[in-house]
Amino acid sequence: MSNRRQSQRTIGPSALEAVPEEPPLSHTPRDPVELLPLPPTNTLTADQIRGAVCLWDPTEAPLTPETAVDLHPRRDQVCWFPRACTHHTARQAYRTLLDHAPGCAPCTRDAGTCDTGRALRRLMREGRHPADGSEPPA
Ligand SMILES: [Zn+2]
Ligand SMILES: [Zn+2]
Repeated sequence: MSNRRQSQRTIGPSALEAVPEEPPLSHTPRDPVELLPLPPTNTLTADQIRGAVCLWDPTEAPLTPETAVDLHPRRDQVCWFPRACTHHTARQAYRTLLDHAPGCAPCTRDAGTCDTGRALRRLMREGRHPADGSEPPA
């Protein structure tokens, strides 16, 4: 960091220690939901923008804390709070994987070695509800 010396001049080394590091929100470098392309906000309803209903289908029943996938607050022209049902999140993860894998060398060689591919497949798995009684296909 070349600009550290400059900031020490103004706030001093002890003050530097007091500046809290921004804690990472998760242990993964990128949350897989951030890999999903989201529709532009000008195509969305107010309920979709505030995360009350599924981002990919506003006609669904309103989301509940149990059913919603938090897609993380976004900042475009406005701050908005997309959420979606697990079903659509899994479907978008699948589409994103189809777009990603053919152009990705690790994915075409061995899908398990690509962080992006692994993250997307994890999202797809989470879209299947073990609670509904249906076993995922082997
Ligand atoms: Zn949905
Ligand atoms: Zn990949």
